[in-house]
This record gives sequence, structure tokens and C-alpha cells, in this order.
Amino acid sequence: MDPGRLVCAGCGRTGGARDVATGWAMSTPLRPTGATSAREPGPLTALCPSCARERVRDLEARLDP
Ligand SMILES: [Zn+2]
Repeated sequence: MDPGRLVCAGCGRTGGARDVATGWAMSTPLRPTGATSAREPGPLTALCPSCARERVRDLEARLDP
């Protein structure tokens, strides 16, 4: 994987490494120990600023009883 290239997991928008400083959210999915899957989820999940904001709003909405 090219570390200098990001693809948003939400909308597919692409960004460069320098875009991380502009608000991209990055997370590394944790794989359960011993888990063997034919499908590699990829080492990194990236969200562009707009999708990151949507994600947070979605989480907060779910927390609301
Ligand atoms: Zn996005």
C-alpha cells in the first residue's frame, strides 16, 4: 500500500499524505488474535473530513436514547 495515498472509506474520495493534516481521520482496524480471514481488511481505514464528521454525528445520534 502506498502510504502517501488515502482513500476515504466513506465516499471513496482520495487524498494525499499532506491531507491528513487537514482533518482526515485514520484508524487501524484491530484484528482478533489468531483470526484468519481470506479477506484482508487492509491496514488502514481513512475518512475524509466530511465523512469523519458524519461518522461522529452518526455515533452521537446512536448514543442518544
Ligand atoms: Zn469521505
